[in-house]
Amino acid sequence: MSNLQKGPLYLTNTLTRKKEEFIPLRPPHVGLYVCGPTVYSDVHLGNVRTFTTFDLLYRWLMHLGYKVRYVRNITDVGHLVGDVDEGEDKIAKRARLEQLEPMEIVQKYTNGFHDVMRLFNVLSPSIEPTATGHLIEQIEMVKRIIESGYGYEANGSVYFDVPKYAQKHAYGELSGRKIDELITNTRDTEGMDEKRSPLDFAIWKRAEAQHLMKWPSPWGEGFPGWHLECSAMSTKYLGQTFDIHGGGMDLKFPHHECEIAQSVAADGHAPVRYWMHGNMLTVNGRKMAKSEGNGFTPEELLTGNHKLLEKGYSAMTVRFFMLQCHYASTLDFSNAAMQASEKGLERLMAAMGTLEKLRPATNADPGQDEAVRGLAQRCHTAMNDDLNSPVMIAELFEAVRLINSANDGKVALGATAIEELRSLMNAMVFDVLGLRTEAAAAGDDTALDGLVQEFIRMRAEAKARKDFAASDRVRDQLAALGIVLKDTKEGTTWQRA
Ligand code: AMP
Ligand code: ZN
Repeated sequence: MSNLQKGPLYLTNTLTRKKEEFIPLRPPHVGLYVCGPTVYSDVHLGNVRTFTTFDLLYRWLMHLGYKVRYVRNITDVGHLVGDVDEGEDKIAKRARLEQLEPMEIVQKYTNGFHDVMRLFNVLSPSIEPTATGHLIEQIEMVKRIIESGYGYEANGSVYFDVPKYAQKHAYGELSGRKIDELITNTRDTEGMDEKRSPLDFAIWKRAEAQHLMKWPSPWGEGFPGWHLECSAMSTKYLGQTFDIHGGGMDLKFPHHECEIAQSVAADGHAPVRYWMHGNMLTVNGRKMAKSEGNGFTPEELLTGNHKLLEKGYSAMTVRFFMLQCHYASTLDFSNAAMQASEKGLERLMAAMGTLEKLRPATNADPGQDEAVRGLAQRCHTAMNDDLNSPVMIAELFEAVRLINSANDGKVALGATAIEELRSLMNAMVFDVLGLRTEAAAAGDDTALDGLVQEFIRMRAEAKARKDFAASDRVRDQLAALGIVLKDTKEGTTWQRA
């Protein structure tokens, strides 16, 4: 597929509300930061949608040949129950309820989050930094904000002076909020006796004596404000200005608006060139959330053990269901839609099996080579159009029709057409959409192991008769398929590359 038009890529930039051509700062490198979970409870399917959205972006950027540094953090301190500057720390609260150390809570739910990401075949980021691991960077950033005149200390806490910042900078630009409306809509919050304006937000908070998660700082013992960690860690790993920042739509305000203000105040630059926001997973039109009681966990989903579920669904069915919707649209969960996705995925995967077995027709129709190339081009065009996965998937179903017709002898595909179809389908279905067969998902390598053992025997026989060219060929061919042989004293073993 070398003659394929791979670019340009267009992404909707939330900051400008326009589809813009994506031009990285330092090609072929791309810096991508996505707000990760607050690890105080099990993730629900809504969270999975957001991480799947950015997994699709990550996979597509890599498919286009970019070298992506993907940073997705773990929030393990500073996110308060009230989401702004009030209430207990979410993690500390959970630790109290479960009678565990805060760090036990963090470990438990980080492990759980990773298990869920694996289940849904969401790739690991390149760096997964934690807020508690970056206190020095956060304290340094608070100092820079104070030095630039946009932060002030009050009674051991440090606040960001929003009205002062807004005099010179576009506070509210990302979320489309106006400073006057914000002032009238802000209710009195905790810390009002310390804040100069109700719009100000904490970048460092004084810890009370009984507070468990606290660290020494120039302002006394305390902990960082929730918005600060993302600014400090994205700057550390991606630079003061980087390519793409993502997160769920609900994070636009105040979280991302505050991230922008912090970076501009501390370092004098807008931190992000392209802001991207994934839309929400809803149930009967309402955002799926823990607090709404409509957020089922992946485990409930697989077993069907939840009042909203008619039956259990596989993780790949859900992934497919999510990718059949454009990331910027809301997606409403329903059993009917899930069952349609289940059928669609089965049809797609069956065609993938058929395609593997397809042999070139003797009377091949050369026109089909062009048809396959057209399909490939349309898949790329759809994905380059702001990651339009539903349109790309519709093209894949065109390919399914072609594969099935070829299998029934209704169209005659030659070797080139079959080759290009395989390369297209494997790239789109497995690498880009990140779908996998249920056997692969279950990690079932029994059949594969039988096959590989057969090759290991052939290689040993070739070696025994000193035919090293043949034995090397077996090893190299397996390596090309991602299977690596290892010779040990006990014999030859294999593993996936
Ligand atoms: P949290 O752990 O609450 O900070 O959420 C982690 C991520 O999940 C954030 O990017 C949220 O925007 C996202 N998220 C939360 N609820 C939903 C939902 N119903 N649909 C899609 N994304 C969500
Ligand atoms: Zn964040």
